[in-house]
Amino acid sequence: MISIIKNSLLVLFLAVFVSCKAQNVSVIATKERIVADTTFVNLKDYSSDFVYDMKYATEDNFLKAKVYDCAECYLRLKTVKALISANQKFIKKGYRIKLFDCYRPLDIQKKMWTIVPNPEYVANPAKGSIHNRGGAVDITLVDSNGKELDMGTKFDFFGPEASHYYVGVSEEVKENRKLLKRVMLKKNFISFDSEWWHYNLKAALTDKVANEKWKCK
Ligand SMILES: [Zn+2]
Repeated sequence: MISIIKNSLLVLFLAVFVSCKAQNVSVIATKERIVADTTFVNLKDYSSDFVYDMKYATEDNFLKAKVYDCAECYLRLKTVKALISANQKFIKKGYRIKLFDCYRPLDIQKKMWTIVPNPEYVANPAKGSIHNRGGAVDITLVDSNGKELDMGTKFDFFGPEASHYYVGVSEEVKENRKLLKRVMLKKNFISFDSEWWHYNLKAALTDKVANEKWKCK
């Protein structure tokens, strides 16, 4: 009798163990899928169709300082996927995306806020920006000769002229901004009223703020 009970308990234990093992496998698989889409990746590893002018890896920015050690564009994988899809659309039209900024570590955001403490142009680091979450890009379009389309102002121009709603720009500028906005919105990005160059991936708004710096090769 005791031996039957022992055997039954052993079978029960094995059944629970196997079931737990199976559950663990599925949990890990689920985790891997979630991590994969929110993992920070280098855009260059997924596409060679972009043009880069990473302003914060130079002194040509409003900080007048080189705050990135090297010019890399890191983003969460889901942002990369949406951006590649948008770029493919632009390429069909004879243009491509030029990048000014991608993921931005929180410490850099703090530096920016010290210089421009105006939420219309720089996100308050207390909340963090979508750049700090790996879901924002600062971009423009270039033509087949690599020439930037006229967007009315330079990147990081802190004034009303950079707004999507500013009416004092030429028809050509309006059309260029509209072209950029139309495709980006279609690819699940949101525009930012006061900056024609800034786009947030809708699905990245609630991701965690990060402060990791990428490795330079
Ligand atoms: Zn931006």
